[in-house]
Amino acid sequence: MINLHKYPSIFIANWKLNGNLSFLKEYFEKLKVNSNNCTVICPPSIYLNTLININTKSIFVGSQDVSIHKEGAYTGELSSKMLVDNNVNFCLVGHSERRQLFSETNINVKKKCINLIEEKIIPVICIGETLEEKQKNLTEKVLLTQIKESIPVISNDENTIIAYEPIWAIGTGLTPTFEEIDSVHSMIKSIEKKFKNYKILYGGSVKSSNSSKINALQNVDGCLIGGASLKVDEFNIIIS
Ligand code: PEP
Repeated sequence: MINLHKYPSIFIANWKLNGNLSFLKEYFEKLKVNSNNCTVICPPSIYLNTLININTKSIFVGSQDVSIHKEGAYTGELSSKMLVDNNVNFCLVGHSERRQLFSETNINVKKKCINLIEEKIIPVICIGETLEEKQKNLTEKVLLTQIKESIPVISNDENTIIAYEPIWAIGTGLTPTFEEIDSVHSMIKSIEKKFKNYKILYGGSVKSSNSSKINALQNVDGCLIGGASLKVDEFNIIIS
Protein backbone atom coordinates (compact mmCIF):
# COMPACT_ATOMS: atom_id res chain seq x y z
CA MET A 1 0.00 0.00 0.00
CA ILE A 2 1.19 3.54 -0.74
CA ASN A 3 2.66 5.31 2.29
CA LEU A 4 0.31 8.31 2.44
CA HIS A 5 2.16 9.98 5.28
CA LYS A 6 5.29 10.55 3.27
CA TYR A 7 3.47 13.10 1.07
CA PRO A 8 2.84 16.65 2.31
CA SER A 9 -0.05 16.98 -0.17
CA ILE A 10 -2.27 14.68 -2.19
CA PHE A 11 -3.94 15.79 -5.42
CA ILE A 12 -6.53 13.63 -7.11
CA ALA A 13 -7.88 14.33 -10.61
CA ASN A 14 -11.38 13.00 -11.27
CA TRP A 15 -11.95 12.99 -15.02
CA LYS A 16 -15.50 11.63 -14.67
CA LEU A 17 -17.01 10.68 -18.07
CA ASN A 18 -14.51 12.74 -20.08
CA GLY A 19 -11.46 12.14 -22.25
CA ASN A 20 -10.42 9.78 -25.00
CA LEU A 21 -7.22 8.10 -26.12
CA SER A 22 -5.66 11.09 -27.87
CA PHE A 23 -6.68 13.43 -25.02
CA LEU A 24 -5.02 11.08 -22.56
CA LYS A 25 -1.76 10.83 -24.49
CA GLU A 26 -1.46 14.58 -25.08
CA TYR A 27 -2.36 15.28 -21.44
CA PHE A 28 0.30 12.90 -20.19
CA GLU A 29 2.99 14.44 -22.41
CA LYS A 30 2.24 17.89 -20.99
CA LEU A 31 1.80 16.77 -17.37
CA LYS A 32 4.47 18.12 -14.99
CA VAL A 33 4.46 16.05 -11.82
CA ASN A 34 5.96 17.25 -8.55
CA SER A 35 7.10 13.96 -7.07
CA ASN A 36 7.25 15.38 -3.53
CA ASN A 37 3.48 15.26 -3.56
CA CYS A 38 1.15 12.38 -4.34
CA THR A 39 -0.66 12.91 -7.64
CA VAL A 40 -3.45 10.55 -8.66
CA ILE A 41 -5.41 10.50 -11.91
CA CYS A 42 -8.80 8.77 -12.07
CA PRO A 43 -9.72 8.33 -15.74
CA PRO A 44 -12.79 6.48 -17.03
CA SER A 45 -12.15 2.80 -16.25
CA ILE A 46 -11.55 1.76 -19.85
CA TYR A 47 -8.44 4.01 -19.85
CA LEU A 48 -6.98 2.85 -16.52
CA ASN A 49 -4.68 0.43 -18.24
CA THR A 50 -3.57 2.88 -20.92
CA LEU A 51 -2.57 5.33 -18.22
CA ILE A 52 -0.74 2.66 -16.27
CA ASN A 53 1.17 1.57 -19.35
CA ILE A 54 2.36 5.06 -20.31
CA ASN A 55 3.06 6.12 -16.73
CA THR A 56 6.69 7.20 -16.61
CA LYS A 57 6.04 10.25 -14.43
CA SER A 58 5.38 8.77 -11.00
CA ILE A 59 1.70 9.51 -10.91
CA PHE A 60 -0.66 7.06 -9.26
CA VAL A 61 -3.72 5.74 -10.98
CA GLY A 62 -7.15 5.64 -9.36
CA SER A 63 -10.50 4.18 -10.28
CA GLN A 64 -13.71 6.24 -10.13
CA ASP A 65 -15.68 3.36 -8.65
CA VAL A 66 -15.59 -0.35 -7.76
CA SER A 67 -18.17 -3.08 -7.34
CA ILE A 68 -19.56 -4.07 -3.95
CA HIS A 69 -19.18 -7.65 -5.20
CA LYS A 70 -16.02 -9.70 -5.35
CA GLU A 71 -16.89 -11.78 -8.42
CA GLY A 72 -19.78 -13.47 -10.16
CA ALA A 73 -22.80 -12.65 -12.30
CA TYR A 74 -22.70 -8.85 -12.07
CA THR A 75 -22.63 -7.57 -15.64
CA GLY A 76 -20.68 -4.35 -16.12
CA GLU A 77 -18.93 -4.40 -12.76
CA LEU A 78 -15.20 -4.17 -11.87
CA SER A 79 -13.90 -5.82 -8.70
CA SER A 80 -11.21 -4.56 -6.33
CA LYS A 81 -9.14 -7.66 -7.20
CA MET A 82 -9.26 -6.66 -10.89
CA LEU A 83 -8.16 -3.13 -9.97
CA VAL A 84 -5.18 -4.32 -7.95
CA ASP A 85 -4.32 -6.77 -10.71
CA ASN A 86 -3.92 -3.72 -12.94
CA ASN A 87 -1.81 -1.69 -10.48
CA VAL A 88 -4.58 0.67 -9.44
CA ASN A 89 -3.69 2.15 -6.04
CA PHE A 90 -6.65 4.42 -5.24
CA CYS A 91 -10.42 4.37 -5.77
CA LEU A 92 -13.08 7.05 -5.29
CA VAL A 93 -16.08 5.83 -3.34
CA GLY A 94 -19.33 7.58 -2.49
CA HIS A 95 -18.81 10.48 -4.89
CA SER A 96 -21.90 12.70 -4.72
CA GLU A 97 -22.67 12.00 -8.38
CA ARG A 98 -22.78 8.28 -7.61
CA ARG A 99 -24.83 8.92 -4.47
CA GLN A 100 -27.32 11.17 -6.27
CA LEU A 101 -27.47 9.68 -9.78
CA PHE A 102 -26.72 6.01 -9.12
CA SER A 103 -28.31 5.52 -5.68
CA GLU A 104 -25.03 4.83 -3.87
CA THR A 105 -25.74 4.36 -0.15
CA ASN A 106 -23.49 4.63 2.88
CA ILE A 107 -23.88 0.87 3.33
CA ASN A 108 -22.52 0.23 -0.17
CA VAL A 109 -19.72 2.75 0.33
CA LYS A 110 -18.68 0.79 3.40
CA LYS A 111 -18.75 -2.56 1.51
CA LYS A 112 -16.65 -1.08 -1.29
CA CYS A 113 -14.12 0.31 1.22
CA ILE A 114 -13.71 -3.09 2.86
CA ASN A 115 -13.15 -4.81 -0.50
CA LEU A 116 -10.60 -2.16 -1.50
CA ILE A 117 -8.67 -2.16 1.77
CA GLU A 118 -8.48 -5.95 1.67
CA GLU A 119 -6.70 -5.57 -1.69
CA LYS A 120 -4.50 -2.74 -0.37
CA ILE A 121 -6.18 -0.13 -2.56
CA ILE A 122 -6.81 3.19 -0.81
CA PRO A 123 -10.48 4.24 -0.84
CA VAL A 124 -11.09 7.98 -1.14
CA ILE A 125 -14.40 8.33 0.68
CA CYS A 126 -16.33 11.38 -0.51
CA ILE A 127 -18.71 13.10 1.89
CA GLY A 128 -20.52 16.42 1.68
CA GLU A 129 -23.71 18.33 2.32
CA THR A 130 -26.26 19.83 -0.10
CA LEU A 131 -26.88 23.58 -0.20
CA GLU A 132 -30.20 23.09 1.56
CA GLU A 133 -28.51 21.16 4.36
CA LYS A 134 -25.85 23.86 4.69
CA GLN A 135 -28.49 26.58 4.86
CA LYS A 136 -30.26 24.67 7.63
CA ASN A 137 -26.96 24.37 9.53
CA LEU A 138 -26.99 20.61 9.11
CA THR A 139 -23.46 20.23 7.67
CA GLU A 140 -21.96 18.68 10.79
CA LYS A 141 -24.89 16.31 11.31
CA VAL A 142 -24.86 15.14 7.68
CA LEU A 143 -21.11 14.56 7.65
CA LEU A 144 -21.22 12.71 10.96
CA THR A 145 -23.86 10.32 9.61
CA GLN A 146 -21.94 9.75 6.38
CA ILE A 147 -18.73 9.09 8.31
CA LYS A 148 -20.38 6.84 10.88
CA GLU A 149 -22.24 4.77 8.30
CA SER A 150 -19.70 4.57 5.48
CA ILE A 151 -16.26 4.26 7.07
CA PRO A 152 -15.54 0.64 8.08
CA VAL A 153 -13.84 -0.37 11.31
CA ILE A 154 -10.78 -1.60 9.36
CA SER A 155 -10.16 1.92 8.01
CA ASN A 156 -7.32 3.92 9.46
CA ASP A 157 -5.18 6.93 8.56
CA GLU A 158 -2.80 4.73 6.55
CA ASN A 159 -5.30 2.90 4.36
CA THR A 160 -8.16 5.39 3.84
CA ILE A 161 -8.55 9.01 2.67
CA ILE A 162 -11.57 11.24 3.31
CA ALA A 163 -12.57 13.89 0.75
CA TYR A 164 -14.86 16.67 1.95
CA GLU A 165 -16.82 17.80 -1.10
CA PRO A 166 -19.76 20.13 -0.45
CA ILE A 167 -22.21 19.06 -3.14
CA TRP A 168 -23.18 22.65 -3.89
CA ALA A 169 -19.54 23.46 -4.68
CA ILE A 170 -19.02 20.66 -7.22
CA GLY A 171 -18.81 22.02 -10.74
CA THR A 172 -20.50 25.30 -9.77
CA GLY A 173 -17.57 27.68 -9.31
CA LEU A 174 -18.77 28.24 -5.73
CA THR A 175 -16.67 27.31 -2.71
CA PRO A 176 -17.03 27.69 1.04
CA THR A 177 -14.80 30.38 2.55
CA PHE A 178 -11.29 29.28 3.48
CA GLU A 179 -12.29 29.49 7.16
CA GLU A 180 -15.31 27.28 6.55
CA ILE A 181 -13.21 24.65 4.75
CA ASP A 182 -10.63 24.60 7.51
CA SER A 183 -13.21 24.40 10.26
CA VAL A 184 -15.12 21.52 8.62
CA HIS A 185 -11.84 19.61 8.18
CA SER A 186 -10.91 20.33 11.76
CA MET A 187 -14.35 19.10 12.89
CA ILE A 188 -13.86 15.83 10.94
CA LYS A 189 -10.42 15.31 12.46
CA SER A 190 -11.84 15.78 15.93
CA ILE A 191 -14.86 13.43 15.63
CA GLU A 192 -12.82 10.62 17.14
CA LYS A 193 -9.20 10.25 18.09
CA LYS A 194 -8.62 7.89 15.17
CA PHE A 195 -9.50 10.58 12.60
CA LYS A 196 -6.88 13.02 13.86
CA ASN A 197 -4.20 11.80 11.44
CA TYR A 198 -6.44 11.01 8.48
CA LYS A 199 -5.56 12.68 5.20
CA ILE A 200 -8.58 14.89 4.46
CA LEU A 201 -8.83 16.41 0.99
CA TYR A 202 -11.06 19.27 -0.09
CA GLY A 203 -13.02 19.04 -3.35
CA GLY A 204 -15.45 21.41 -5.08
CA SER A 205 -14.48 24.03 -7.69
CA VAL A 206 -10.76 23.86 -6.95
CA LYS A 207 -8.82 25.68 -9.66
CA SER A 208 -5.35 27.17 -10.12
CA SER A 209 -6.49 30.50 -8.65
CA ASN A 210 -7.65 29.08 -5.30
CA SER A 211 -5.78 25.77 -4.92
CA SER A 212 -2.66 27.03 -3.16
CA LYS A 213 -4.68 28.93 -0.52
CA ILE A 214 -6.98 25.95 0.06
CA ASN A 215 -4.12 23.49 0.20
CA ALA A 216 -2.22 25.71 2.65
CA LEU A 217 -5.03 25.56 5.22
CA GLN A 218 -3.90 23.82 8.40
CA ASN A 219 -6.37 20.95 8.25
CA VAL A 220 -6.34 20.40 4.49
CA ASP A 221 -4.08 17.64 3.15
CA GLY A 222 -4.70 18.09 -0.55
CA CYS A 223 -7.46 18.47 -3.11
CA LEU A 224 -9.83 16.43 -5.25
CA ILE A 225 -10.22 18.18 -8.57
CA GLY A 226 -12.90 17.60 -11.22
CA GLY A 227 -13.34 20.14 -14.03
CA ALA A 228 -9.98 21.89 -13.62
CA SER A 229 -8.14 18.57 -13.81
CA LEU A 230 -9.22 18.20 -17.44
CA LYS A 231 -7.09 21.19 -18.43
CA VAL A 232 -3.52 19.99 -18.10
CA ASP A 233 -1.98 23.50 -17.85
CA GLU A 234 -4.39 24.31 -15.03
CA PHE A 235 -3.76 20.96 -13.31
CA ASN A 236 0.03 21.47 -13.62
CA ILE A 237 -0.29 24.70 -11.65
CA ILE A 238 -2.48 23.06 -8.99
CA ILE A 239 -0.01 20.20 -8.39
CA SER A 240 3.18 22.24 -8.72
C1 PEP B 1 -15.58 16.44 -8.14
O1 PEP B 1 -16.46 16.09 -8.93
O2 PEP B 1 -15.08 15.62 -7.33
C2 PEP B 1 -15.15 17.83 -8.16
C3 PEP B 1 -14.45 18.26 -7.17
O3 PEP B 1 -15.54 18.55 -9.26
P1 PEP B 1 -15.16 20.09 -9.58
O4 PEP B 1 -13.71 20.26 -9.26
O5 PEP B 1 -15.43 20.24 -11.03
O6 PEP B 1 -16.02 20.94 -8.73
